[in-house]
Amino acid sequence: MAIPEQFIDELVQRTDIVDLVSEYVRLTKKGRNYWGLCPFHAEKTPSFSVSPEKQIFKCFGCGKGGGVINFVMEQENLPFIDAVEVLAKRANLAVPETGGGSAGMRERRERLLEINRQAARVFHRWLYEPEGREGLDYLRRRGLSKATLTNFGLGFALNRWDGLITALAEQGYDKRDLLDAGLAVSNKDGRIYDRFRNRVMFPIIDLRGEVIGFGGRVMGDSTPKYLNSPDTPVYNKSRNVFALNIAKKSKAGRVILTEGYMDTISLHQAGFDSAVASLGTSLTAEHAQLLSRYFQNAVISYDGDGAGVAAAQRAIPLLEKAGLKVKVLQVRGAKDPDEFIKKYGREAFARLLDESENHIDYRLEKIRAKYDLEDDSQRVDFLREAAGMLAVLPSPVEREIYAGHAARMAGITAETMAQEVKKERARRVSREKKQQERKNLAPAAQRQPAQRGLRYTNIRSARAEEGVVRLMLLDPALLGEMDGLIGAEFSSPLLGKVFDLLCRRARDGLSTRLSALAGELEPEEMDHLALVAGQPESLTNSRDSLRDYIAVIRGELARRSSADADALLRETQKKYLEKKAYMEEKP
Ligand SMILES: [Zn+2]
Repeated sequence: MAIPEQFIDELVQRTDIVDLVSEYVRLTKKGRNYWGLCPFHAEKTPSFSVSPEKQIFKCFGCGKGGGVINFVMEQENLPFIDAVEVLAKRANLAVPETGGGSAGMRERRERLLEINRQAARVFHRWLYEPEGREGLDYLRRRGLSKATLTNFGLGFALNRWDGLITALAEQGYDKRDLLDAGLAVSNKDGRIYDRFRNRVMFPIIDLRGEVIGFGGRVMGDSTPKYLNSPDTPVYNKSRNVFALNIAKKSKAGRVILTEGYMDTISLHQAGFDSAVASLGTSLTAEHAQLLSRYFQNAVISYDGDGAGVAAAQRAIPLLEKAGLKVKVLQVRGAKDPDEFIKKYGREAFARLLDESENHIDYRLEKIRAKYDLEDDSQRVDFLREAAGMLAVLPSPVEREIYAGHAARMAGITAETMAQEVKKERARRVSREKKQQERKNLAPAAQRQPAQRGLRYTNIRSARAEEGVVRLMLLDPALLGEMDGLIGAEFSSPLLGKVFDLLCRRARDGLSTRLSALAGELEPEEMDHLALVAGQPESLTNSRDSLRDYIAVIRGELARRSSADADALLRETQKKYLEKKAYMEEKP
């Protein structure tokens, strides 16, 4: 880690989690903890809690949790190092510069951002030079105003192999830097040249206003038509959304999802300032989560072609899962929103937005398109598939209303359709109930970490391990009472790792607060630990509890090793018998 642990400790000490979170979330005190609406997922009743005692936050809705650094990482969508920087500024501390190789990380990121910023400047300048004429003509043809070109920092990459390399060399950046930033590529022979050539350039800007990458659309017919920066230490395409830096300030209350930057930009120019696009990838769960921090509603406005429809179908469940209310806008009489606005004007598009279909109607429509409703047997298939889709809607009112819509499509009575949905729902509920019962009979499956990779293999031991970790977090002085326990004796690799970490920190006189471990744990690991730390643990009989926990851990370990030994013995015996049989068979 590039930043000294002592500094992280001081930072964590100086930053009160209640103060910090209050800057983003309205908190109310209930009992020992504070509660509020989670900033990381859309909700109406608070499931987000902050513990001033433990200096952690935990959301019981989406599962996010951690200390002050994790909070900033999540809230501002930042990597660890940058979150530390933000908190340091807030606490009036300077992040110490450390020598050596690993210190490079933060400087490296800063340098990449600097290169991207300079590249964006160069591209923008070229747009207005004779060699960039073609790019400017293209953007004007697409109807973009000068103000829009400036607002979005659009630019042009010259039709040369080393245009950017030469321009940035004058500012002291070498080819390696450009390679790292994804602005140059090298071929088999090791020759390095510009990645973006003869393209209109769209800088991708993060929530803080830093240029983190680029998208480029080629002039003429060469391929690929669109080219994006590769993932770099500062750019991750599945975590960043184009134009969200502007859209997040919108008062529209709904985010408009488009398929590309041209659509997004022309919507902004027409006054729809909440348009965004995912770039070089279809919408991911991370994108959806990010959007749900700023919006409660989403309107999907993809192209009307097959690919657009398929992308919308994929996006709907992701957005819903993140807590957003989803509608789907169907562009009619034009191939995309950009063309629609040019043909019919902004008012027409605003009407389209307001009339945009509820996604349930949209899905019904898509199911209908699969069947020929004149044909009786296909009509039955349509009704069956529609009933399956409607049966899982949580609200009975919604189920009734849309059953009516489906009935009208198929020309049957609303009552018949409602019956069908009811039956389908009963079937599903009973199936789920059976599954739940099966789960209840298998206690090992319960109380597991939500994150698949962290699953406990020995629940009894894991409970005791959680207890030990909790006690260490509460009172590092217990280090002396551990009876030589080490993380390798734990059944859960994560809890073992955290235990070792805490012991080492306690020995070195460092903070054993969970918040101080932000740099050492993955965010998913932190989510789970915040849950573990949040459980009650009394310090009054801590030494007794500790002794019991350690006994369980060691007992389970012995059981596991003897089971392992048995397995080993059986395996050896089997091999021996196999060999013997083989030898005896030989003539
Ligand atoms: Zn949440």
